[in-house]
Amino acid sequence: MEDKITLTIEKQKNIALIAHDGKKPVLIDWCETHKDILKKHNLCGTGTTARMISDRTGLTVKGYNSGPLGGDQQIGAKIVEGRIDLIIFFSDPLTAQPHDPDVKALMRIAQVYDIPMAVNKASADFMITSTFMDQSYDHDVINFKKNISDRANTL
Ligand code: PGA
Repeated sequence: MEDKITLTIEKQKNIALIAHDGKKPVLIDWCETHKDILKKHNLCGTGTTARMISDRTGLTVKGYNSGPLGGDQQIGAKIVEGRIDLIIFFSDPLTAQPHDPDVKALMRIAQVYDIPMAVNKASADFMITSTFMDQSYDHDVINFKKNISDRANTL
């Protein structure tokens, strides 16, 4: 078994949208600006962010729980299951968050599974205008089956 497996991010992407309270207006404006691109993909997000984007832009955004009530963890679990392809997460670096461990966990698991994540407007602008948005993309991800097998045989 190989250490890595190749997974494909399909042309139509499952995109998670999250914004801390101080950044919600920025994300809503950003979604409005890029609405024509976003509506070609499947959108989801933490509860309040998803609701506000839907209400203000008309985009369909599936909402999970609110971030502080486990929404970030739900999105993290979906990354592990291969059901999230890309994350736009406008976090607020100047405000303490009650669910900071969950935020860190989401960022960590996105790194583990090589999921593109934009944490501010500039990175989101670069990402949404990438040619990869309109095509499939192959990437190498840790082979979780081999990882278990190796660990079970060596520990
Ligand atoms: P919310 O959660 O969209 O429910 O506000 C976002 C967050 O703070 O993680």
